[in-house]
Amino acid sequence: MKRRTLIVGISLLLVATLIICQNLNPKDTEIWEPEPEVVVPGVSSSDPPSDAIVLFSGDDLDQWQHNDGRPVEWDLENGIVVVKKGTGDIRTKEAFGSIQLHIEWRTPQEIEGEGQGRGNSGLFLQERYEVQILDSYNNRTYSNGQAGSIYKQSIPLANPMRPPGEWQSYDIIYHAPSFEDEGTYAQHPYVTVLHNGVLIQDHVKILGTTEFIGPPKVAKHGKSSIMLQDHGNPVAFRNIWVRELD
Ligand code: MG
Repeated sequence: MKRRTLIVGISLLLVATLIICQNLNPKDTEIWEPEPEVVVPGVSSSDPPSDAIVLFSGDDLDQWQHNDGRPVEWDLENGIVVVKKGTGDIRTKEAFGSIQLHIEWRTPQEIEGEGQGRGNSGLFLQERYEVQILDSYNNRTYSNGQAGSIYKQSIPLANPMRPPGEWQSYDIIYHAPSFEDEGTYAQHPYVTVLHNGVLIQDHVKILGTTEFIGPPKVAKHGKSSIMLQDHGNPVAFRNIWVRELD
């Protein structure tokens, strides 16, 4: 009787061990599909990877135009493009939805003006959501209007500004909104911004257009251009590329 109990006991233990072993099979949690596409990265993280759309590499501004369709009148020299006061904003000919964007910008070494008047430009996502470009190095202004702010909506988490005359970078992850039929957001736009490699906007919900006066406005839109602002200051740009996320 004792022996039979022992055999039954051992058998039960073996079955239990088998079940446990089966449950712990590492293959059960392996997922093989889809296999991520091979992308050749740039030599440095600021260089465009192989699947990027290069919007400006220093040679020409063929992918840009003024808002009224004129060819770009900003100054292109030595591989950089500089805002030419009074000529107006420029925008990509191509329209984009959700993107990863890299852009480098430089405010004038010679300091002129103060607050919003010093090295002001702007990067507009989908023509309407401004990530502020400004000389915010020892240049106090309202916090939701300094460099890296989502203009008048979101204060940056830090101020990693380099001095004027030095190149700055933004790396941006932007998720385009979707809309209800009546034109309100079904899903708000969201944005993450790294300024010189430092996280300054962490998956921030955009509330609507970034207005100079008054609250954000919401109106239905589809894919739209990336726009750079002529705010009257000679801000320079180089190395602009984008990866489409939708
Ligand atoms: Mg601006």
